[in-house]
Amino acid sequence: PKARILVSACLLGQAVRYDGRGKPLLHPLMTLWQAEGRLVPLCPEVSAGLPVPRPPAEIAAGAGGAAVLSGMARVVEKTGGDVTAAFLQAAENALALATSMGCRHALLIDGSPSCGTLAIYDGSFGGRKVAGEGVVAARLRQAGIAVFADREIEALACALAEADRRAL
Ligand code: SF4
Repeated sequence: PKARILVSACLLGQAVRYDGRGKPLLHPLMTLWQAEGRLVPLCPEVSAGLPVPRPPAEIAAGAGGAAVLSGMARVVEKTGGDVTAAFLQAAENALALATSMGCRHALLIDGSPSCGTLAIYDGSFGGRKVAGEGVVAARLRQAGIAVFADREIEALACALAEADRRAL
């Protein structure tokens, strides 16, 4: 069996982002993996009941996803709403789908307070990024799932080839 990949739905062009748009990753590997039936798309935030469009959200005070998971940080909307509970639910939904579909790898769009894997915004809504991960990425990593950013797609291809070899 070919290893499956949990993927941010917006990377497949699904219009699920806060601004009501997708952000398709146009790469031959995406086309190939789609044809192979490897891709398991999910928008964790929408799965947790957040609407489209929705106010932009950031993890407060420059904290990261792991701090949110441990109750040390909140996720807040630019308009002031506290969406921490929805983001925690989003992370659990992502892990549950990955587990039920046998995904040991994930490809997530960077910069998101949920899906960010290398960088997130600093909580000031000033457009400043800091090194860190979102709540979904942190939850998946805690569970041992290998998480890759969109710009690490070639590294994911190498990891998948290895996983396919092991499964033979
Ligand atoms: Fe895309 Fe993830 Fe944000 Fe959903 S939660 S819009 S999949 S980055």
